[in-house]
Amino acid sequence: MLLENLLKNMIQISKPNIDKKEIDSVLKVLNSGHLVQGAVVQNFEKTFSEECGVKFAIATNSGTSALHTALYAAGIKEGDEVITTPFTFVATANSILMLGARPIFADIDPGTFNIDPTKIIEKINKRTKAILVVNLFGLPANYKEIKKIANKYNLIIVEDAAQSVGASYFGKQSGNLADIACFSLYATKNIISGEGGMITTSNKLYFERSKRFRNHGQDEERRYIYHGLGYNYRMTDLSAAIGLEQIKKLKMFTKRRQEIAEKYNSEFKNIEGIIVPEAPKATSSVYHQYTLRVTKKFKLTRDELKEYLLQKGIGSNVYYPVPLYRFKHLKFNSKISEFPVAEQMSKEVISIPVHPLLSDVEVKYIIRTIKSI
Ligand SMILES: *Cc1c(COP(=O)(O)O)cnc(C)c1O
Repeated sequence: MLLENLLKNMIQISKPNIDKKEIDSVLKVLNSGHLVQGAVVQNFEKTFSEECGVKFAIATNSGTSALHTALYAAGIKEGDEVITTPFTFVATANSILMLGARPIFADIDPGTFNIDPTKIIEKINKRTKAILVVNLFGLPANYKEIKKIANKYNLIIVEDAAQSVGASYFGKQSGNLADIACFSLYATKNIISGEGGMITTSNKLYFERSKRFRNHGQDEERRYIYHGLGYNYRMTDLSAAIGLEQIKKLKMFTKRRQEIAEKYNSEFKNIEGIIVPEAPKATSSVYHQYTLRVTKKFKLTRDELKEYLLQKGIGSNVYYPVPLYRFKHLKFNSKISEFPVAEQMSKEVISIPVHPLLSDVEVKYIIRTIKSI
């Protein structure tokens, strides 16, 4: 009972932000009699592609299936190598394995937590086909440098934009920063559809391959003719109905996240032992997470801070406590000593609530609680 009350009053690290609009839209779909990959999905795809400034969008039933599909569409095959970050959610690397290819990790930049372009070069060989770039915590990676490398070595760039819907980089939207991009609409992401994903691209071939792969290798117009292996990765119109309402609110959600993050930045930047997230030039983060580094100079260790915040009713989390090269199924000849930055970050990071449902009072309370340490 006590725990229940505590949880009820806790400031949670994330919270689904839905209202009557989403509920009414879902009811409308239920009453319409068309539940899967119908007009609502098509409408959602169109809206999403316009939001990102790309020609095509393909809806899927998760961010993971979007990644699997996009890598397939980009031509990744058994034996290929795909360079990616070890400091991400496991779906990024698992999607590479799903095609029989190998995730090859490159260390990250300590300021942005994103893949370090200089470390990518060291990992390129004749099997390398693509770079799977994650915009971690909502901040686009260093695409200028990554593109130079991709051009020089003839590599495809795939954007894992699961955390960065609405972000921009030198005037371009996330979803339009690489050859093909993938979003997640999972319940904790910046916009949601329950479970769901989206692929965006301006490449017609990638678009057509993606559409078939998501639906058992069939063309939409000609069913029961199979062009190759495919899966059931279709989105329901129920999910699309939620997503359509959510994307209308994207700018509002993002503005609130950025507002809270700016407050945190100015309040925390002078605390001894705390490092606030970096904001590189011409790069706008949508703060999927607001992530601090807790260094040795701080009064508490990172784990002590997490425990302290919990006692004060503030939810926090560590993204990510274990870098991916440490897991047996993802380890391909890599040595831990190749990743000093990812190792250090996994010990220092803590993410605190930044979602748009936080009230000003809650934000002030979080600031006061941390500053009083
Ligand atoms: C959430 C997430 C995914 C996976 O998305 P799902 O919708 O949960 O399948 C992939 N990559 C990153 C970086 C994510 O944060």
